[in-house]
Amino acid sequence: MSVTICLHICFIQVKNYTDFQRFSRSSIQVLTMMKTVTIVITSGILVTEVVWQLYKVYISRYRKEAINMTNGSTNGSTKQIYKNTETKLYDVMFFSKDSNLCRSHLGLKLTPCMKLNCAVRYVRRLIQYLDSATDSLDICMYFFTFPDLAKAVINAKHRNVVIRMILDESMTQNDRSQIINFYKEGIQPVSQKLDILMHHKFAIIDNKILISGSINWTKSAFFGNFENVLVTDEVAIVKPFIYEFEKMWTMFSKTASPGLHN
Ligand SMILES: [Zn+2]
Repeated sequence: MSVTICLHICFIQVKNYTDFQRFSRSSIQVLTMMKTVTIVITSGILVTEVVWQLYKVYISRYRKEAINMTNGSTNGSTKQIYKNTETKLYDVMFFSKDSNLCRSHLGLKLTPCMKLNCAVRYVRRLIQYLDSATDSLDICMYFFTFPDLAKAVINAKHRNVVIRMILDESMTQNDRSQIINFYKEGIQPVSQKLDILMHHKFAIIDNKILISGSINWTKSAFFGNFENVLVTDEVAIVKPFIYEFEKMWTMFSKTASPGLHN
């Protein structure tokens, strides 16, 4: 009897041992699987974090480079050429109190000073843009008396560039010297007596390049004021100016002040 009980207990123990082994194997498999899942998730988080940090470093460097490009030359004197598919030209010019110091070397044969924001260098650059015109030059300017820029416009006319110019009526009252020169060369600026100012200061070259900013094309503005000029061929910016000019040209040329046509 005791032997039978003993055998029975042994059988149960062996059975339990087998179950235990199966249980252990299952537990190990589950643990291994959990370990694998944990490693995969942790690796994923780490990779994501590394990629995010690299992205932040890249963006930070890119922004710093852009800021350096803008400020690299003192006082925002900048010529930026972005060689991507859309935008090719951004030329930003700032004029300040210092610009007055450059007036002394305005003469064409004089070399611009070493300042990167030299007002003379800016003027020459604007003349270069005007000189690049091959088809059309649309100018919408509150006040235009600067002889150097007027000469560039007249030179464009000599190259058979079509010149259209809208000026404020007050220009015809205050300073007719450049207007007379324009007329002599067959350029007929238009203006209109209005109860508001025609206060724009922009020009469009060949329907491609826009020159715009706060600055009137007068010597005193270039060499005496805080002013800004932006030159760009960004289509999204140039197009609305072309549209606005066409609209204004239609309006101003139909009802131009008779005084300008004398
Ligand atoms: Zn200078």
